[in-house]
Parts: sequence; C-alpha cells; structure tokens
Amino acid sequence: MLRVINFICLGFLISSTLWSQDLQYYLPHDIEYDPKVPTPASVIGHSVGEWHVSHDKLVRYMEAVAASSDRVIRETYGYTYEGRSLMLLTFTSPENHQNLELIRKQHLQLSEPSESARLDIDNMPVVVWMGYSVHGNEASGTNASLLAAYYLAAAQGPEIEELLNDAIILIDPSINPDGMNRFASWVNSHRSKNLDGNPSSLEHNESWPKGRTNHYWFDLNRDWLPLQHPESKGRVEKFHYWKPNILTDHHEMGAHRTFFFQPGVPSRNHPLTPDNTYKLTSLIAAYHAKALDQIGSLYYSQESYDDYYYGKGSTYPDINGSVGILFEQASARGHLQDTDNGALTFPFAIKNQFTTTLSTMQAAKDLRAELLEHQRNFYSSAIDESNKDHLRAYIFQSGDHGRMYHFLDMVKRHQIDVYHVSQDLNIGGTEFSAQHSYIVPLRQPQYRLIKAMFEQRTEFQDSLFYDVSAWTLPLAYNLDFSQLDGRNFQQSLLGEPVEKINFPKGQVLGGKSLYAYVFECREYYSYRAMNYLLTQKLKVKVATENMILESGVVIPPGSVIIPVAQQELDPENIYQLMQFIAENDGVTVRSLSTGFSSIGKSWGSPTVKPLTQPNVVVLADDDINGYEVGEVWHLLDQRFDVRMTMVSQRKFAGMDLNKFNTLIMVSGQYRYLSNPAKDKIKQWIANGGQVICWKTGAKWLTNVKISTLLFEKNEPDTISQLPYGERNRYTGARKIGGAIFKVKLDLTHPLTYGMEQSTMPIFRNSELIMKRSKNPFTNPIMYTSDPLMSGYIHAKKLEELKNTPVVGISHVGKGRIVAFTDNPNFRAFWLGTNKLFLNALFFGSTIEAKALK
Ligand SMILES: [Zn+2]
Repeated sequence: MLRVINFICLGFLISSTLWSQDLQYYLPHDIEYDPKVPTPASVIGHSVGEWHVSHDKLVRYMEAVAASSDRVIRETYGYTYEGRSLMLLTFTSPENHQNLELIRKQHLQLSEPSESARLDIDNMPVVVWMGYSVHGNEASGTNASLLAAYYLAAAQGPEIEELLNDAIILIDPSINPDGMNRFASWVNSHRSKNLDGNPSSLEHNESWPKGRTNHYWFDLNRDWLPLQHPESKGRVEKFHYWKPNILTDHHEMGAHRTFFFQPGVPSRNHPLTPDNTYKLTSLIAAYHAKALDQIGSLYYSQESYDDYYYGKGSTYPDINGSVGILFEQASARGHLQDTDNGALTFPFAIKNQFTTTLSTMQAAKDLRAELLEHQRNFYSSAIDESNKDHLRAYIFQSGDHGRMYHFLDMVKRHQIDVYHVSQDLNIGGTEFSAQHSYIVPLRQPQYRLIKAMFEQRTEFQDSLFYDVSAWTLPLAYNLDFSQLDGRNFQQSLLGEPVEKINFPKGQVLGGKSLYAYVFECREYYSYRAMNYLLTQKLKVKVATENMILESGVVIPPGSVIIPVAQQELDPENIYQLMQFIAENDGVTVRSLSTGFSSIGKSWGSPTVKPLTQPNVVVLADDDINGYEVGEVWHLLDQRFDVRMTMVSQRKFAGMDLNKFNTLIMVSGQYRYLSNPAKDKIKQWIANGGQVICWKTGAKWLTNVKISTLLFEKNEPDTISQLPYGERNRYTGARKIGGAIFKVKLDLTHPLTYGMEQSTMPIFRNSELIMKRSKNPFTNPIMYTSDPLMSGYIHAKKLEELKNTPVVGISHVGKGRIVAFTDNPNFRAFWLGTNKLFLNALFFGSTIEAKALK
C-alpha cells in the first residue's frame, strides 16, 4: 500500500515540474496560481500542445477544473450526432455566482427596450463568450481553451479578481466536438517522436472528409442562422440565454499566414449592422495588437474576411446587440509545420489564441460600460428604426405543414415573435388564408435580425463576398410570402402568438378502407411515408395525372395510392400503417371505397404507376464535394430514413451496382473512375438505373459521353488590359458566391409534383449554364426571364442565366440521368428545393422514356 502511494507521489512530483515549466510558455509569469486547481497535464496526461487534446480528455479536464474552483460551473448544452457533449463553462467571482440568476435576468433586460432605460449599467458585469474551433481541424483554439480554463480558475491577485468581479466569462471549448476529435485522432496517430514539419507529410494532410465539419460534413460556421444541427441549436439557445456582449470565434487559416483579428474588410460589412458595432470591434482590436506585440507575434487586420453573412459565428452576434470577433491563426495542421515564416509549432499557434483570449477579456473589462450601453442602444434604436420603416410586417403561408413547422421552429429559436393571422387577406393579388398564414411584425426588439432573415437585397456596396450574398429564409423554405406596409398592415391582423410549435399531425379521413387509401405529396414528410410503406413491402402506386373523386375532390399528380387488396398484409394491418404515417409524417390519408369516378379517371388507370423504393448509392471521395455528399446523407438519413450506401471510386468498379436503382453524383471531378467503371455506369443506366446529379457531377457525365445534355462554355470576357492591382476584384465580381433566383415549373412533370405554385426560388452558387434541349419535354424547370430574387450577380452573368434550364433529363436505354445545374439540398435549409431532389428520387422512374428520345 505504501509503495503505491509513493509511486503516485513520485509521479506527481516529476510530472508537475515538467508541467509547470511547460505552462510558463503560455501563461502570464508575474502572478501566482492556485495549486488546488489541477493543471491540464495533471488530468489529460500530456502538456498543452504536446499532443492534440481529444474530446474525452477535454471533458475530463473541464470537469476537474469545475470541481476544484468556486469560480466556475460547467454544464452540457447539447450533444452532437456522435453523442459528444457540448460544454459551457461559466467563470465569474464566487460572489457573482451566488447571484448569477439575478445578474443574468438583469443583463437580459438590456435587450428589452421597455425595461432597459432604468438599468444602472455602472453595477452590471459584462458578459463575454469565448468560442473555440468551430472548424474541428483548426485545433489551436480548443487546445487554448485548456489554458483559458486553467487561468480563469487558478490565477491569483487583484487583476483576475477585478476581472471576475466585472465579467461573466463563458467558455465554449469545442464548438464542433465530432470534427475536432476526428482531426485529433488523425494528427496524433501520425505524430512522430521527432516531429516532422514537412507540409506534404501524412500528418499534415488528413484523409477526406477531414475534421473541419460535423458528423454529416456540414460547416457549422454557416449554421448560426439556418440552425439545422444540434450543435448550433444548443449554442444559439445558450447565446440568447446569456446575450453576451462579445463573442469570439477562434479559427485557423493557411500555414503561411500570420494571425488575423477583426475588423474585416470595411466595405464588406453588412449594412444592417450599426456602425457602433464596428467601432467597438476596432477598440477591442487595439487590445489584441498590444498583446501580440508583447509576445512578438506578427498579425494583420481589415485586409480580409468580412462581417456580411449572419450565419457565421463572428457575424451573428453583430445583429444581436453583441460584438462578434473572428480570429484566424496560421495553422500548423498538426504538431509542427515548415512555413514561409519558419517552423510553425502547434504550441505557438495555441499561444496566440490564448493571448488573444486574455486581450479579449481585458478589452471586455475596460470597455464594459461601452459594451453594455451598446447593447441597450442596439435594442432601443431597433424600435426607433422599426417605427421609421415603411414596412410593418412579413406574412407567409404554406399548405405544407412540415416545411412550415421547421420554418417556425427556426424563427422562434432566434427570439422572434410570430403570430397567427386573425383573418384572410389579399396582398397584391395573393390570398393569405388565416388557417395557413403567420405574421412577423417588425416592431419588436429583433427588428434588425428579422430584416436580415426576410429581406430580398439586390444592391450592394461591394461585389466581393466571403460567403453567400443572399439567404432570404422564406425563399429557401419556398413559402408564399409578402411584406406589409402601412397601407395593408393593422395591429388587429395579429392573432394568437405562436408559442409552442408541434410537429404536424395528419389523419385518416374516412377510417378503415377495404379498397384503397390515397395521400398527396405536398407534405414535406410525405416522402418518408412513401419510403416507410415501401419498406413494409406494400405495393404503392402514384397518380401521374389529376384524379377526380366522385365527391368532386381533385387528387393532384404525385398522389400516392395504396390498394388494400393484392397485398401481403391484411386490411387491419394496412389501416394501422395508414394511422402510423398520418401520426408520424403529418400526411392526411383519404380512405377510398371505390376505384370508380364518373367525372375522372378510375384508380386502375394506366396513368397510375407503380412506385419502387429508392436503393441509393452515392459516390463519395476526396475529389467529390464533401458538403454536398453530406447534405444528401443528412437529408436521407436524418429526415427521411432512406438507407444509402456511400462508396469510394476505387471500390465502385468492383461492387455490384445491380443492388441499387439510384446513383447520386454531386459536384466533383471523379478522376478515379476507371474506364470499366464508366462503362459499368452506362450499362447500368441502359438496364433501367437512374443517376441524379448536379453541377460538375452532371457536366462530368456529359464529358465522358454518358449523358447527352450540353453545357455552355465558360468564355472569358474580351477585355484589353486592367491594372494588376484589380485582379482579385475582377475575378471575384464575376463569381456567383450564392444568390437566389426565380425559376418556372412545368407542373405536369414528375419532378414538380406537390408544388403549389408555377414558380419557385432556387439557390445558385456556380457559373455552370446548361443548354436548352431540342426535345421539348427535357427541361421542365427553367430560369425565368427576370430571375434575380435576392443577392449579388454580375450583370453579364445574369444575362447569360435568363431562360436557361435548371434541370435536364437524358435518356440512356431504359434508364435516365436527371441533371440539375444547382445543388437542391444546400446546407440543409433549402427545404423548398429538397422537394425537387425527392421527386427525382421517388418519381424519376415514372418519367416516360418516349418523351426523352
Ligand atoms: Zn475556420
């Protein structure tokens, strides 16, 4: 027993000497540290920066810090898809912890214009949120959070006590734990004892799909507005729980750069963000400059990155009364990398992130009053601005309860008040029914964020964008929406406020049938219902033309019919399945007692065709767009329970393709598909297979002569000479970084089943243009003659896009290729165009080949 204790003590002594020496590299030297607080190394077993911390060790350390100090509490605000906990640590003085709920409630009143005027800012702490490594392979942030937690818990002396007295500091050590752990596993498993700085080494070149993204390969730093993932949902809920005054977002960039901190490029700020936000960003920046000077680090500011798209972590706070700060550290992308600036070590990267963590806290403390005042003014001036705005409200509706459910859920998560509409009304020729419409009045504290989510902007100060130039959310959900001004808005239009949002429930109209059931495909989740019924081995059919019931009810094309006879299941079981899909998928099922209609076709009509269950294979590889594969994976797996197989190009040649009826090819180069693999695809389509593809995936099929669809050549402009200094601006202005366009639909085509209108918005972020086919039935969806709805596009590109196809269908033997010019599943929040993809998946097989020859 004695020996064991000795062993532990010895181990502790040896290691603690090493550890304290190591921490000296990072921490301020001139203060004492509380020995009761465990150092990172004493818990995780290695010093900070020696290895990349794994998520489980990170959790263990944060638990240990929280257990050791009365300055901190730790909580879990959510779980990732892979079940990792999302943590938030709240650091403040023990006295503040005693009154934390009171402090928080008072702080929230700053964003309530009706209450904020009477608050005494002098006695209120500032709230700072430090967020690390939303991109999992930008790991210096997360590893610096170990130091931040240690420092905040262990540092002694008047300086830290003042800070903790004046500030509530929230540490979000790993915003994307799944990606972060994926990356940590990669670099740790390739680390040599003698570190290798060669940029070409395996260590510095992680295998596809890399650790930047979350489990389904989404960039979480685009999801702050769309809120499609558990990480963002949990985080934004906590954001509004605290409404911090500063929110930091610690990233990494290319290895040859130095260190960047905001402000970004001034001409690329979003005009809805008040100037004072940027003024405060600049004041805070001075603290980073000073701190980095002191440790001799090079840095820059204002020359790149921007504050335009509000779905990013450093920009979302700006439209919520806070100040978002982006940090970008040159990445070692491992433990050591040789760069233009010499050897870049992982500890050096961590040190810069930790140093700017400290400078942020210092700035927050010194600028406490200005930041609190900014928050108060942000919300009170929002009310003033909304009073001056000629717009009064946005109204929107949809007959698709699934899409509306997700839209309302997202809007409410942003603390926006939504109301039912008290009466039917007509706006500019569009009827909005009280039953299906909702209204968001602009006169509320989130006025600016509402504008940011609903406005259609087509004029811009700058033509360069770090990310998309448009994200108008009701357009992404394909909702019928309109704005109300003083002439057509009155307060009495506001019905009951929308509080709790329930997933839609359908019903089985007419009860149990011995003949057949039918449901429309207008509902977003009707495809999940179809898939489920096919999984249950039911024979399912789809109407390809209008059916009129004896009662006069019109059943539109795309409606699904389930005959009761000739099934393996008995009528009672089938009825139970109908009740299940009504409950689970929100579809309303009609019970039919006869197949006869004196005023329309009968249900035995040859226009009613059998449906087959999609058996999906998706090519996924390092020269294929991982975001787009991830979007397909997330959509089918999470939302529709459609099984799919992802396969690399090298495995593809040897696999049995006949097990599948659908091949999905997203944007990509497809360089590793051998000639036999190409022949195999061609033969498989000829035997009845269907390829659904888009963008460069569609173009590839044309290039290798599998598809007959043609694309315009991207001709360079004929310009004589421009100044060299204009080169970035010239090429950037011609890029379609992401904008929204209006397209027209042939509503008789299977690809448009379930659509309510003959036009819809679509998202485009490429320059690819498809040529119109000579066959009149091949291009059922086209850009309109005046397509720009929201966002930036160069005038010349806009001309080229008008009246060109969005989709082309190419026929090979018994099968077909359904090719889109644009990605229908962008970032999971384009629920409107998801339907085009789902229609191709479920109804593609009903597109008649004779129309394609
Ligand atoms: Zn990043």
